[in-house]
Amino acid sequence: MGQIVILDQNMVNMIAAGEVIERPASVVKELMENSIDAGATKITVSIEDGGRRLISVADNGCGMDGEDLGRAFEPHTTSKIKTSSDLHGISTLGFRGEALASIASVAQVKGTSRAKGQDGANCIEIDCGNKGDISPASADYGTTIQVRDIFYKLPARRKFLRTANTEMGHIAEQFTRIALSNDNLDLTLIHNGRELYRLSDKDNLHSRIAELFPIPSSGISENLIETESNEKGLHILALMGKPSISRTSRKFQYVFLNGRFIRDKFISHAIKEAYRGHLEPDRFPIVFLFIQIPCEDVDVNVHPTKIEVRFYNANLVHSQILGCLREKLLGTNLETQAKLPAIPYQKSTSSCSALVRDQKIADAMAEFFKRHRPVQTQQQFEHKAGSVKYETRYQIRERQYERPQPERKFLQIHDSFIVAQTDDGFVIIDQHALHERIIYEDLCGRMSAGKLESQKLLIPESFELTDAQADALKTNAELIEKLGIELAPFGPRTYAIQAFPTLLAKADPLDFVQDLIDLFTDRDVGLDAERLLDEILNMAACKAAIKAGQKLSDSEMEQLLADRETAERASRCPHGRPTTIKFSTSDLEKQFKRT
Ligand code: ADP
Ligand code: MG
Repeated sequence: MGQIVILDQNMVNMIAAGEVIERPASVVKELMENSIDAGATKITVSIEDGGRRLISVADNGCGMDGEDLGRAFEPHTTSKIKTSSDLHGISTLGFRGEALASIASVAQVKGTSRAKGQDGANCIEIDCGNKGDISPASADYGTTIQVRDIFYKLPARRKFLRTANTEMGHIAEQFTRIALSNDNLDLTLIHNGRELYRLSDKDNLHSRIAELFPIPSSGISENLIETESNEKGLHILALMGKPSISRTSRKFQYVFLNGRFIRDKFISHAIKEAYRGHLEPDRFPIVFLFIQIPCEDVDVNVHPTKIEVRFYNANLVHSQILGCLREKLLGTNLETQAKLPAIPYQKSTSSCSALVRDQKIADAMAEFFKRHRPVQTQQQFEHKAGSVKYETRYQIRERQYERPQPERKFLQIHDSFIVAQTDDGFVIIDQHALHERIIYEDLCGRMSAGKLESQKLLIPESFELTDAQADALKTNAELIEKLGIELAPFGPRTYAIQAFPTLLAKADPLDFVQDLIDLFTDRDVGLDAERLLDEILNMAACKAAIKAGQKLSDSEMEQLLADRETAERASRCPHGRPTTIKFSTSDLEKQFKRT
């Protein structure tokens, strides 16, 4: 006898529910999306006990008449598509016609709805797939769906629900995603009678972000850079977090495609690439990215919850996003502003001692600057090793104009940091990181203009190679020459370094060339030419830069500060760490209670 049976419809729905309805938050997402598709301008989400007891979503959308209300909870019923050709240009959030049926198969559901122009409302109750009759009800225009005791007949699924707080966290996340992509809607989220969010349709994106993210690092919204582009059929609006508010995960990367929150590895990659050099590799930027493309250029029917999509031209999407974000970042001053701790207000009894303390600090600073008189003459400083004059292209330009230099006040601390006065406060500079950036920019400039200048080594340095390494050297011979490195065969499997770039005189030639060969032969990395050059210049800058722990003379510091003013992107080292932290006088005045 045959073993195969046809599953009854309720079983089919429950299986579909397994995909679409993972937890209460999935119900919230599906119901809110239905409300948006129904043209609602106001949606109220009320939750009890993290959604285990009740999930209710009420809207003022177009509503349904009695017939549609009865049909909406049947499987594969939708008003959003009619023929297969509609699948190629979906502009609504829903279209699969399975959300309401799935939800109604795993919970006690009550739907109440009144269509525009209808005299009264109707309601229907479904208990885990058992549908009751349509009956009249009293309600305003719009639809309310109430979902009680989710998974109550499915103990195995119910057991997987987490605490009310955890489930509520997931619900708030879904609510946040929808709220971000619909800042024109009036949205409210209530938990156990308490209002968590009340977002007005008068919000703009910035104020909405400020309301949705009040806690992480007080002020995401003040640290966002906005950029927009509209090219090749792709509209991009991005609010990009400055590198100083980066995170340890992608959690704060919100990507929306035609109003739908999505996760996409091409887009994540484009974002990461855009911030390359601005962030350390294990940090992730905060980004709100809104992409609009013609519905025909993307397939949203590849994932049951539609969180993944398929772009017909993923390369175009990648390059447009990368270009838009990167250009903006490069054109923005990203200096790190120091965050001073808030000092609790002291009662007036201590104001006398505060005054004494302020005076002492003022005296100490005056004394300090008397001892460390700023160097007035502009000197070029020389590297110890190699005795090469260190002069950037910016300095050369500077020298031509011979502008009088403003008075500078600075001091080196712990042989690693430079504290320098600025017009409106002071900065603390990481000497290695800043010098690294300056050399890196200089190297990039010189490489794009031609090749690096080199000088002959008095005694050539020889080294041995494997066949694979020798091959790698041959393959990259042109690049090696451009870098100003001259290598000559010196016997079987032995090469000698004859000349080395002047700018890298501070680095050890043998050590540098060996690392270079490692980069050439590291197959895992598989870098394209541009990335490879970038890695090499990064490495070169790091090796040639002043180290932490190195004592600097006044003129060396003077030089570094002068270069800082002219170098591009001086606020971050090539690896993305900040080079400079700014303190403003107004912050200091606040801290010392002078204002
Ligand atoms: P889908 O959204 O994929 O069409 P659903 O099962 O979520 O499928 O909903 C089925 C249908 O019920 C929708 O196509 C829509 O016509 C109707 N519907 C659902 N929710 C609402 C609502 N809040 N307001 C008006 N109509 C709704
Ligand atoms: Mg739907």
